[in-house]
Amino acid sequence: MEPIVDAPVRASLLLVEDDRELGPLLVEVLGDVYDVTLARDGQAGLHRALTSEPDVLVVDRGLPGIEGLDLVARLRRSGVRAPVLVLTARGTVQDRVDGLDAGAEDYLVKPFDVAELLARLRALLRRHTDTSDVLDVAGASFDVRNRHVTRDHGVVDLTAREADLLEVLARHPRRVFTREELIQLVFGGDVEPNTVDSYVHYLRDKLGRTTIQTVHGLGYRLGPA
Ligand code: CA
Repeated sequence: MEPIVDAPVRASLLLVEDDRELGPLLVEVLGDVYDVTLARDGQAGLHRALTSEPDVLVVDRGLPGIEGLDLVARLRRSGVRAPVLVLTARGTVQDRVDGLDAGAEDYLVKPFDVAELLARLRALLRRHTDTSDVLDVAGASFDVRNRHVTRDHGVVDLTAREADLLEVLARHPRRVFTREELIQLVFGGDVEPNTVDSYVHYLRDKLGRTTIQTVHGLGYRLGPA
């Protein structure tokens, strides 16, 4: 299936930028594509990243509170794996190496073209989505490419639709998806509303009841690990 970042569910982006002009400007531009949250210093950025689990981060290098690269390193130590693009006023080779060493995936020197920032973010998200082929699913591991789930008892094969549904839920483990969203994302929109319920039922039959949680009145999400 297509990466869901371009689908109706928009990717969330955390921008950590203290510049009073550039920050709000980027929120506006990036807001066309992403659900953007702005943090104005390193401390706020750290807190936001740990509590809201953004899909991608844009981090200014020169920040008050916690400096940008220190922030990235702390996020990596805390297990945050979302891709990070660092913005910097400097552009030396050493500067770039420092950024990559800290755990950032990409690097853009100020002043930059907004179109280039958007292109880099698209590439970052695509790469990130493409490489995480094994996802945690309620204590089992889900091999997205080969459509099977490995558990203590062995390997369970999934159909293409079952795998698509499970992938959407597993890539956003805390998010609740409505039936309508899942119909759009998994089935391309053209099915009966109860199709989602049927596939949830199939997956529970194969993988156990707790694999997918019903959130009453809202929809479904991945079950707890
Ligand atoms: Ca700055």
